[in-house]
Amino acid sequence: MKAIRRFTVRTVLPESLAGLEELATNLRWSWHEPTRQLFAQLSPALWEESAHDPIGLLGEIDPSRLDELAADHAFVAQMNERLDELHSYLTEPRWYQSLPAGAPAAIGYFSPEFGIAAALPQYSGGLGILAGDHLKSASDLGVPIIGVGLFYRAGYFAQAISADGWQQESYPVLDPDGLPLSVLRHPDGTAGQVALALPDGRTLYARVWQVAVGRIRLLLLDTDIPENDDELRSVTDRLYGGGGEHRLLQELLLGIGGVRAIKLFTELTGSPTPEVFHTNEGHAGFLGLERISDLIGVGLSFDEALQVVRAGTVFTTHTPVPAGIDRFDSGLIGQYFSSELLPGVDVDDVLLLGAENYEGGEPGTFNMAVMGLRLGQRANGVSQLHGEVSRGMFGQLWPGFDTADVPITSVTNGVHAPTWTDPSLLALAASRLGTTDTTSCDWNSPAVTDLDLWEVRNGMRAQLVQDARRRVTSALAEQNPGTITPQWVSGLLDPDVLTIGFARRVPTYKRLTLMLHDEDRLRSILLSADRPVQIVIAGKSHPADEEGKRLIQKLVQFASSPELRTRLVFLENYDIAMAQLLYPGTDVWLNNPLRPLEACGTSGMKAALNGSLNLSILDGWWAEFYDEENGWAIPSADSAGDSAERDKLEAEAMYDLIEHQIAPRFYDRGSDGVPKRWVQSIRHTLATLSPELSADRMVKEYVTRLYVPAAEAERTISAKSFAGARELASWKQRVFDAWPLVAVTHVESGGVDTVPQVGDILHVRAHVQLDGLTPDDVAVEVVYGRAREGDNLERTHHVALEPETAAPGVAVQFIGAVPLTRAGSFGYNVRVTPKHPLLASAAELGLIAVAD
Ligand SMILES: *Cc1c(COP(=O)(O)O)cnc(C)c1O
Repeated sequence: MKAIRRFTVRTVLPESLAGLEELATNLRWSWHEPTRQLFAQLSPALWEESAHDPIGLLGEIDPSRLDELAADHAFVAQMNERLDELHSYLTEPRWYQSLPAGAPAAIGYFSPEFGIAAALPQYSGGLGILAGDHLKSASDLGVPIIGVGLFYRAGYFAQAISADGWQQESYPVLDPDGLPLSVLRHPDGTAGQVALALPDGRTLYARVWQVAVGRIRLLLLDTDIPENDDELRSVTDRLYGGGGEHRLLQELLLGIGGVRAIKLFTELTGSPTPEVFHTNEGHAGFLGLERISDLIGVGLSFDEALQVVRAGTVFTTHTPVPAGIDRFDSGLIGQYFSSELLPGVDVDDVLLLGAENYEGGEPGTFNMAVMGLRLGQRANGVSQLHGEVSRGMFGQLWPGFDTADVPITSVTNGVHAPTWTDPSLLALAASRLGTTDTTSCDWNSPAVTDLDLWEVRNGMRAQLVQDARRRVTSALAEQNPGTITPQWVSGLLDPDVLTIGFARRVPTYKRLTLMLHDEDRLRSILLSADRPVQIVIAGKSHPADEEGKRLIQKLVQFASSPELRTRLVFLENYDIAMAQLLYPGTDVWLNNPLRPLEACGTSGMKAALNGSLNLSILDGWWAEFYDEENGWAIPSADSAGDSAERDKLEAEAMYDLIEHQIAPRFYDRGSDGVPKRWVQSIRHTLATLSPELSADRMVKEYVTRLYVPAAEAERTISAKSFAGARELASWKQRVFDAWPLVAVTHVESGGVDTVPQVGDILHVRAHVQLDGLTPDDVAVEVVYGRAREGDNLERTHHVALEPETAAPGVAVQFIGAVPLTRAGSFGYNVRVTPKHPLLASAAELGLIAVAD
């Protein structure tokens, strides 16, 4: 029989062990190996059984065992040491505290999912794991972030695979009492709540769970409370569960409710109010509207409030796949914002923010990414290549500008090293190099021998093989209850065979089944007598994605033959716990997306931190970091005639690399059994990639390049009762009104002979019609570079031209000089853009005039 409701009764700990409760409820245990080891000691068997979940462990442990430990002085001393360590970790100054004054007092970080630990399954994939890693690194660096998300009663789904290879979804209901959560409460003990007014006089209520992630507080909103009717209770039932209205309700709650939750939290705890708001993908974009509503409440107009909000908002886009962007029917948005939801905010202003009112846009559609870009003065993609792709993809919002000028920068993702580095590698670094910071130690030091490294790698592979056998055993038991495990499972995977890992969500662009392109060739690679290869695969398909499920089925069926089933293994239910063994356990991490659709990709980064080598299409992070020594690049056949041709070329290149380069290097052993050349690549990977791929590097970049400038911008614009915001809003209006008549009417040049030479100086004089704007309102620049086909300028530079007079006028002349420093084709043009000290980029208003 199934339980209709469940809860967890927490153990009463003996007094001398009370500290375990605190250690268990701060998720820092999830990345602090000594604390994990402490919990493991309580009961190694239960630690495994609970899938490394301290609260689960404490719930199951025998009271007599606790009494025994309470009397064990050595254990109690060790526990107290961990506790002291936690307390100093939570309070001591860290990197952020050494920054010059001016860094924001707090930052609100919003994400629809957070992947922090397997014990808190509130994520579906890369976006959530990244958000979790962002919080953890922020904690380690002392960055004062407040995280905001939703608490999903069933998280994402759990995956099983049927005997015929079809994905089965189930939604195990989580019990918040058994999770490391606490309710945000008022001093009188009542639970804090946020409320959102809905159409027809209804109200959506949510309670606020708090999660301690080291120094960071994460607030999760939960609608499953008695104040809501059944329909509204289910708003936070599942992550990415429904579409349309259900999804919209989740996003209204995340954005608007999230800002309200932060207000409640700061009021109740005295914690500083965020000066910067960061939205991780467009889903949380409504947060800007709540802030606008607040500012309207203190007397600003919508346009003025918008300037303030833009200044302090950072928007990160994560996908170059249009289907990955939330779009709603404008009618639905209109319905929700015509209610009392946001006092003072006019529904038409809201609709304009998300309107696809540009070339190629769809009328009647409300686009969350577009709103995100309009509500945030600073925006970024998540790798250099993705930044470039995003500038192209969203370029229509800044018509007339070259793609390179579109104001979307990039911050390449990183991964949280303490979470994703296998303990055995930490132990090696500690014993040989005297540090557990594996991202900054000297992996080229002779103190670590080739044999040391190779043995650690062998251990990781053996650990994966053991885990895979355990998982397949229990999956078969699920499929065939009551039967004994077949003999072949004990020979599943071989701890000495070259192991390739491949795990990801299963949207089409990730090409789960590319390796099946030539089944005979794959079979011969796997079954090679002297250089065998094995592949471990995992991944979930979105429940509504039948095509994705078919790909999984195709793979599972291929892998089911008796000759292959021990060499090609699909593991069910990819999650953090599996990932933590899978990345270290593979020698080669494979990624074969359709370039450039992988925005960054982080699984390969996690593999690299453990000394796995990457084999990947040059997409996302790999396009930035592949250096010929840290792995292999699958050449991408972008110019192939059609997608079948492209798959064929790329698959063949992949087989060739495995067969002719990877396997020979892996099996080229010295007399000590160590593959010297391979270990050289491992060292190189650890030494050069680890610092770059670390989420610490990423979070520092967000702080210095985005959060600090955003905080400064918002302070400046808000100073003196929002004088800057009022001035900027009216200036923008004036510029918009005048712009249709602004033009470069004539350009003269001189200073070069008929045959220009390097060293000559090109003098430029531009006649600009300003139509009432002053010369100070505009930037007039020569844009020059190499002239290519169709007279397109490439690798452009800008030189500012100065006005000859400061007086406003119908036409003003601007002059300047460009030194000709290199030979070859040269072309130039003159452009005019609006200029104001409170703008962050020349393209910001999307207004430009160029000479014809
Ligand atoms: C890292 C990770 C992902 C994302 O990996 P990508 O390479 O970005 O697709 C997904 N799921 C889990 C469990 C992860 O740990």
